[in-house]
Amino acid sequence: MNASHQINQLTASEILQQQRRAFLNAEPPTLTQRKANLKKLRDVVIAYRSELQNAVSEDFGHRSYHETDVMELVGIVQSIDYLSKKLRRFMKPDRRHVSLFYRSAKAYVEYQPKGIIGVMAPWNYPISLTLIPLATALAAGNRAMLKPSELTPRTSDVLHRMLSTTFSSDEVAVILGGPEVGAAFSALPFDHLLFTGSTPVGRKVMKAASDNLVPLTLELGGKSPVIIARGNINPRTLSSIAYGKLSNGGQTCVAPDYALVHEEDLEAFIQQYDETVTRFYPNGPDCADYTSIVSDRHYVRLQGLLDDAREKGARVIEMGTQPESASNRVRTLAPTLVIGAKEDDSIMQEEIFGPILPIKTYRDIDEVITYINDRPRPLALYYFGEKDADCRKLLRRTTSGNVGINNTIIHVAQDDLPFGGVGASGMGAYHGIEGFRSMSHAKGVFDQGRWNLPSLLQAPFGKLMELALVMTLGQKKTSK
Ligand code: NAD
Repeated sequence: MNASHQINQLTASEILQQQRRAFLNAEPPTLTQRKANLKKLRDVVIAYRSELQNAVSEDFGHRSYHETDVMELVGIVQSIDYLSKKLRRFMKPDRRHVSLFYRSAKAYVEYQPKGIIGVMAPWNYPISLTLIPLATALAAGNRAMLKPSELTPRTSDVLHRMLSTTFSSDEVAVILGGPEVGAAFSALPFDHLLFTGSTPVGRKVMKAASDNLVPLTLELGGKSPVIIARGNINPRTLSSIAYGKLSNGGQTCVAPDYALVHEEDLEAFIQQYDETVTRFYPNGPDCADYTSIVSDRHYVRLQGLLDDAREKGARVIEMGTQPESASNRVRTLAPTLVIGAKEDDSIMQEEIFGPILPIKTYRDIDEVITYINDRPRPLALYYFGEKDADCRKLLRRTTSGNVGINNTIIHVAQDDLPFGGVGASGMGAYHGIEGFRSMSHAKGVFDQGRWNLPSLLQAPFGKLMELALVMTLGQKKTSK
């Protein structure tokens, strides 16, 4: 890592060594100290609220302050409050079963801080995807090094400033830089690394971490389907789908990527989606509540997906109010439906990550299940309809990181649910007790106490030993 990636003249590797020395030289933080760290984090987020809102909006070209509040800051504050409330219980050792032979002893699991947690974050929710992992790391008694995204440089800069005024660099440090810095960061010997980002970069990160046997949580992306049961096209369903698809301009890892709609419901879906988008954004995509695409590269990529689908015969329809004149805002892409895209069109192959929703029609639930299972396991799966036999079959026969029934994306805001992918959409999870435990070492302790019953198992073997063997293995059968 070169000089521009240094903090106070220390390289990331030196900061890691400094954090590790500090971690090893101190007692593990108590409940009170951990809660105090969480409170400091909560307070500084509130204090920097306006700066964060402005920085994100400038980084994206435009994002409403409300969206930053609702989709990021509320989530961080709720997550900190949840962790503070549950921490005493999470930290408590777990009593475990002791088998008959060893009954005089005690067995329990202690959740020890792992040490130094590396956090790598993407640009799409640059505040919450950096700070919720940080809150989890601090709750579990760790120190942390954060590597935010280079695509949201103003936000990363605010994160750097606010955290360096709140924590010393041997507690929490922010490392700034692009992919080369990311590559070097992922090769550091952390005690745990949580990476949120794309599946291709996740593969590289896993390779780099394997050299040091660093345990990983990989929060990746992919194509999350939304399935609408036959006859369930209604304003409630469409509102939830449009909310999940269009929040943050569609740049949400758990956004419904494509919709599976019954063939008889297609026209009703198109009409009601259009009405919903008009209701959400009455003045069209230039309105204050609609978020821009983060960079020229992503904007061109999304236009390319539409051109490719259109050239190969798909219907591409812009939804909602159409602006009367050309947009004067940068990188605004209208909410768009794509009907009849072919399986090998890029839009059906890669994660869309924008306000475009391709629709595929189906005839029955078995077709839906086969379609989903022929593809990499998604981060989220959404189902709209009755909780009937088809719904139960779909949930039994498919595997996804999480599931939403009659809603989209809200599961992420449930602090008590594990959040994570499976297969190509990720491994491991955070939020809930799962997050605390992934950043703690579960140390099994066997405490013999005063009485040494296992001596029964040692020679010379006696009557008690015989009795214990009968109780465990039964009477010995004499062979004929
Ligand atoms: P990305 O993979 O390009 O970047 C993520 C981080 O990795 C950034 O900090 C970046 O600097 C770093 N990086 C880039 N190249 C690297 C390399 N070669 N080695 C090491 N690090 C490198 O992802 P992105 O474009 O910032 O974010 C979008 C992706 O993230 C989407 O696929 C989305 O689905 C996914 N995502 C997943 C979740 C989740 O919780 N599962 C949440 C948000 C986003």
